[in-house]
Amino acid sequence: VPYSVNYDVLSLKKMIEEDRDSTIIFYGGEPLLNPKFIMSVLDNIKARRYGIQTNGTLYKLLPDEYWKRINVVLLSIDGREEITNKHRGKGIYDAVLRASKHLKSLGVETIARMAVTQDTDIYEDVMHLINLKLFDKVHWQLDVIWSEEWDFKSWAYSSYLPGIRKLVQFFLSKLEEGEIIKIIPILGVISAYFFGGYKGSPCGAGYSSVTVTPDGRVLSCPIAVREKWAELGNVKNGFRIMEDPLPQDCKNCEFRDYCGGRCLYAQKERYWGEEGFKVVDEVNKEYLRIVLSIIPKVKELIAKSRIKLNDLYYNPILDSTEVIP
Ligand code: SF4
Repeated sequence: VPYSVNYDVLSLKKMIEEDRDSTIIFYGGEPLLNPKFIMSVLDNIKARRYGIQTNGTLYKLLPDEYWKRINVVLLSIDGREEITNKHRGKGIYDAVLRASKHLKSLGVETIARMAVTQDTDIYEDVMHLINLKLFDKVHWQLDVIWSEEWDFKSWAYSSYLPGIRKLVQFFLSKLEEGEIIKIIPILGVISAYFFGGYKGSPCGAGYSSVTVTPDGRVLSCPIAVREKWAELGNVKNGFRIMEDPLPQDCKNCEFRDYCGGRCLYAQKERYWGEEGFKVVDEVNKEYLRIVLSIIPKVKELIAKSRIKLNDLYYNPILDSTEVIP
């Protein structure tokens, strides 16, 4: 995609303002490299909600009066300091915490957005972020199918899934105290159970969320900048959403409403081949079984009025999260 935006913001305005309930999320690369564009969108285009996904190092480039109009910011941080700095560079952990403190002081909701690799201890790293009390929600994506293949299966069964079990128990213990800890990969699945599931990838790719690239194309997924299957139209002439976004393979799966086919990009591109794809799918199903296993207890807590059903509602489109890691 080109470095600079080469379409007219006014055509974008027309497209977005047709929908009175729209959410605009700035995404990159690093969107704060172009604060002028962010300011021009905020000044010209009305949306119900605005958000930014950022690495947190350049937050000072956007003036506070603009930040105050942003509803949600997703900050990339992988968990504990050593894990974050190993993958993102020296000093990044502190930089992200500074950004989060500042943005929270302005009233912006913060989400910790983790990339989970074989260095991650999911329980330790998520708990670390929760205990910092600097993030309103925690979300993660697995480093699978994007990068070179690694021994995901061994790590998943020896570390990740046992960690998920502990996290789910922690989430439940907090529900018993009447508190909902916003761990998105848990909350988003529970919400899907009670409020109806996802008809495609929970990120909404192609059916309830679209991406506009700097050259004005409208895509189903922001990652798929080179892939023809992702093109839905353009800013100038409009676009068509995908009518039936659930992948064929998922049509008869018992988990389809919770998972929606997981990531559309991974479904389409399958960089790890069929076998690699199946392993991720198996682990994904096991994670869903673990989360869904607490549903009977959640129902009891609702019946006893320990928690309110409506407080379990989560709509990933409003935050640009994927729910399913
Ligand atoms: S989860 Fe997959 S389909 Fe959705 S935005 Fe991310 S890469 Fe694209």
